Amino acid sequence: MPLSQNSLNNGARWEVLWVRPKGGWARKAFDQDFSAALRTHNLLLLSGRKGVTLRSCNVGFPLPKRYEKKISRLNARGVYWCPYCITLRRFALDDYKRFMYCPVCDATTGNFHVRQTNPKATVIGYRRTRRVRVRRRVQRRTR
Ligand SMILES: [Zn+2]
Repeated sequence: MPLSQNSLNNGARWEVLWVRPKGGWARKAFDQDFSAALRTHNLLLLSGRKGVTLRSCNVGFPLPKRYEKKISRLNARGVYWCPYCITLRRFALDDYKRFMYCPVCDATTGNFHVRQTNPKATVIGYRRTRRVRVRRRVQRRTR
């Protein structure tokens, strides 16, 4: 996890998510107590829970340098940097095909920090809205 000591004092509030044994997400909020959140995160990992995620609720974290050259290609394959989960994730398409979103924390490609770290996020959103508008205009004319 790309967390420097500096990034721990930036007012970020933390929560830990994991998948319940019977399915569905469980979450626990830690406010600004990062070390408590990290301890719980590590304990859950040791106990073999699935989907254990330590995430920031309010602060978007930048893309690590090592992904900078790859991120365009990853975006094209549906993989985005989630600045709140602080990891790469395969984003899902929303039901109305308007945007992509993180399946764990629901951050969308309409979010400022998501767009800032994923160069293709804006392009996908723009093309989709344009295509829908053009189709509607055509339907109106034929009526
Ligand atoms: Zn996320």
